[in-house]
Amino acid sequence: MAEYDFDLFVIGAGSGGVRAARMAASHGASVAVAEEYRVGGTCVIRGCVPKKLFVYASHFPEYVEDAAGYGWSIAPGGFDWTTLKDNKDKEIDRLNGIYIRNLEASRVKIIQSRATLKDAHTVSLESEGTSVTAKHILIATGATPFVPEFPGSEHAITSNEAFHLDALPEKVIVVGGGYIAVEFAGIFNGLGLQTTQLYRGPQILRGFDDDLRDSLADEMRAKGIDVRTQSDIAKIEPSGSGYVATLKSGETLEAGLVMYATGRVPNTAGLGLEEAGVELNDNGAVAVNAYSQTSVPNIYAVGDVTDRMNLTPVAIREGAAFAETVFNNTPTAVDHSNIATAVFSQPEIGTVGLTEAEAQEKYGELDIYKSRFRPMKFILPGREEKMMMKLIVDAASDKVVGCHILGPDAGEMAQLLGIAVKMGATKADFDATVAVHPTAAEELVTMREKWTAPAG
Ligand code: NDP
Repeated sequence: MAEYDFDLFVIGAGSGGVRAARMAASHGASVAVAEEYRVGGTCVIRGCVPKKLFVYASHFPEYVEDAAGYGWSIAPGGFDWTTLKDNKDKEIDRLNGIYIRNLEASRVKIIQSRATLKDAHTVSLESEGTSVTAKHILIATGATPFVPEFPGSEHAITSNEAFHLDALPEKVIVVGGGYIAVEFAGIFNGLGLQTTQLYRGPQILRGFDDDLRDSLADEMRAKGIDVRTQSDIAKIEPSGSGYVATLKSGETLEAGLVMYATGRVPNTAGLGLEEAGVELNDNGAVAVNAYSQTSVPNIYAVGDVTDRMNLTPVAIREGAAFAETVFNNTPTAVDHSNIATAVFSQPEIGTVGLTEAEAQEKYGELDIYKSRFRPMKFILPGREEKMMMKLIVDAASDKVVGCHILGPDAGEMAQLLGIAVKMGATKADFDATVAVHPTAAEELVTMREKWTAPAG
């Protein structure tokens, strides 16, 4: 009889856990995965996927507006939130079904239960009131929205609830300056809500290139979002059918909804990690080495619960690398450098590599190429929105070490730029690439003039 019930027990059936489970099974391991909510995890159920569907929905008013310039007269129609929500839910159900079927086809046992560690090899299953043992355990429990505590903070919603609102209010306040805050500010504004975004620091999207941050904030304001920096809420009080938010400045704002997108915390509470001897970082994330191994040798962790780079494709890579390492005898560490990413703000951001400030610190002398222009598709409609592209080149090696794009399809472009930057392409390689015409992306291979700071 086998020493353990399973070769691998995965806690959490999100992007990282599911990939690890399926790959481990493909290498011959007996695998079980426990999920307390829905198979698919944050990305599929209440993150990237439904968010992107909402982003698509929120673009339509601009398409209708722009249609006139192309000769179309489209009568502005009504928008039905319930239809969007129901269609989104159907798509999420479909993807959830695919995830379940894929796990089953890989012969992974799915256990619908909260699972906690009893010791390094034993997992308690809450809904079944039983325990199982496993040779290896993978923690892939993700993260959960964090809302700071202040008077009335219980009235704030998070992105979790934003996907299931019964109705949309007329006015919304979004708090935070990160990915989720800028994306939802764009969604709400596009869907017709009077939107205020409050950010505590000097400029939204801390950590991104400064030109991107400034250009995005300008364009968001031009689209009608009241983006306020150095702004924070002191208290929220119910008022009528909505709320009054009192800012730290003393000013009050009314809104039907206040959404906090102020970061996410790793889901480690009550998991039994201490009991099993698994060490956590100062921020509560599971501490792991380059192979996603925790301080307990047979316990590994991948994805947002480790707070390395909190992106779905990274969790998937970490899950796959774990399975290679442990079940295919091929130690594999994930390279977290030069990972391209998109922010589905409006306009969209696509970026890979270093910001100008980071590159300056790492390389010293840089050549910067910048372009701001009106994309062709906005000319006939008379839309003033500008696209921004920026290349950061290490002057000594001519390597392109950062690419930053703001504008339509920036995320799609970033995926391909990611290959070039990952391969170590030089500016000369970019220059040697013949443009695809007429596109916006051609600007990336036609920028010849180095940018110099204006005098004075
Ligand atoms: P982020 O960490 O990106 O941003 C959190 C924001 O909240 C920051 O602006 C931060 O300010 C602010 N904040 C933090 N604490 C407080 C506080 N106490 N009071 C006021 N403001 C506060 O988190 P998100 O929640 O936006 O997203 C979580 C992660 O999910 C992202 O880091 C990203 O990795 C991932 N994600 C990726 C997406 C994509 O790939 N398109 C989309 C959505 C999420 P400050 O800058 O001052 O710290």
